[in-house]
Amino acid sequence: MAIVVMKFGGSSVGDRARMRLVAQRIVARKRTGDDVVVVVSAMGDTTDELIDLALEMHATPSAREMDALLATGEQASSVLLTLALHALGASAIALTGWQAGIVTDDAHRKARIVRIDAQRIRNALASGHIVVVAGFQGCTRDGDIATLGRGGSDTTAVALASALNASVCDIYTDVDGVYSTDPRIVHVARKLSHISYDEMLELAHLGAAVLHPRAVECAKHNAVALVVRSSFRDVEGTIVKEEAHMEHGVLVRGIAYEKDVARMSLLGVPDEPGQLALVFVALAEAGINVDIIVQSGVVDGKADFSFTISEADVDEACDLLRRMQPRVRYADVTCETKLVKISIVGAGMVSNPGVAAQMFRAISEQGVSIKMVSTSEIKVSAVIDGAKWQACVQALHTAFGLDASEVAFVGGPSVRR
Ligand code: ADP
Ligand code: ASP
Ligand code: MG
Repeated sequence: MAIVVMKFGGSSVGDRARMRLVAQRIVARKRTGDDVVVVVSAMGDTTDELIDLALEMHATPSAREMDALLATGEQASSVLLTLALHALGASAIALTGWQAGIVTDDAHRKARIVRIDAQRIRNALASGHIVVVAGFQGCTRDGDIATLGRGGSDTTAVALASALNASVCDIYTDVDGVYSTDPRIVHVARKLSHISYDEMLELAHLGAAVLHPRAVECAKHNAVALVVRSSFRDVEGTIVKEEAHMEHGVLVRGIAYEKDVARMSLLGVPDEPGQLALVFVALAEAGINVDIIVQSGVVDGKADFSFTISEADVDEACDLLRRMQPRVRYADVTCETKLVKISIVGAGMVSNPGVAAQMFRAISEQGVSIKMVSTSEIKVSAVIDGAKWQACVQALHTAFGLDASEVAFVGGPSVRR
């Protein structure tokens, strides 16, 4: 008998009515004869509310305790969904991440799954149960609760699908599939019938919340058949797979954005070996993720360089850089916040040098100047001032011929993030 994994996100189980609808959907799937493993996220904005509560208790709560707190959101929803299944007469059991055998490393708040002992799930399936697993969590080898990073329930689902050799991993969410860009921002975004793992991975890394980057990584690595589809409508979703059918002439498959970007600039840094290493090793040791790095030419033995980080890390980065001033001997440090990184992604752009130029033109026509650029074989990213970012995403969507003739279906409130 085939095993299928069905994952439901926070807005899909956001209230009692939606949870009952999801339960009906699961029962219908079970009736087709498949063994069903369900992964569920915390209801609605629960995770954000738990974070806010913790911050009321302490300005910088410890990561270990935060994980123990945040994991409760998924535990509650997995039990409630299981009860909704019981109410429909189905046989189902709820498991926490660790009861489901998910072992992680000890990087609290962004842990990686290192192993899954799926025997308990297999036994429960063999007894005829639908197994409902709390997403986003596992247990370290020392027995501590760890969470997988925001949006991490997708990763739980894909990792379980791989461990169980499931025939498919369906990610049910509040939109009909993966679109050419966020359909909440561009209403004429186009639903994609297929997308390659690589393009999806790039989009997810560049901010497309619809799939957790590690979930896509895990699906690619283990060749998991991944489908993104609507929790509310029985329509075809988007298949994420190895080689997407390439539409002829399509350069840009999708557009992603990332808000809350900050640019730090170090001015007048002596042009000596090791200066950059000093700064970036210290940032890495502090757990601050650096994205785009740009260094200007050397004038009078001094260089300027800029890099982007998340706005959430600005205070810590500023403190750290100030403390390093005597060693790095830079002249000044500046910081700009409320920037947005917009990225265009498409495997077809590798052999088309004009794509970046077309992107820059579309942004400049919105009266917006570009502060930083980064490129790879399948993407171009531009960091811009945040004031007109939505207009820029829309303009790029039109400029690259992605607009659909119909308005996209967006089925519910998005989870605050
Ligand atoms: P879930 O709670 O189901 O995990 P998420 O909020 O994490 O849902 O992801 C779904 C959201 O992703 C959508 O509501 C949409 O606003 C956003 N999104 C961003 N980029 C895209 C895209 N390219 N295609 C579809 N949705 C996208
Ligand atoms: N509840 C977690 C979050 O809000 C995990 C998830 O939804 O996938 O990020
Ligand atoms: Mg999600």
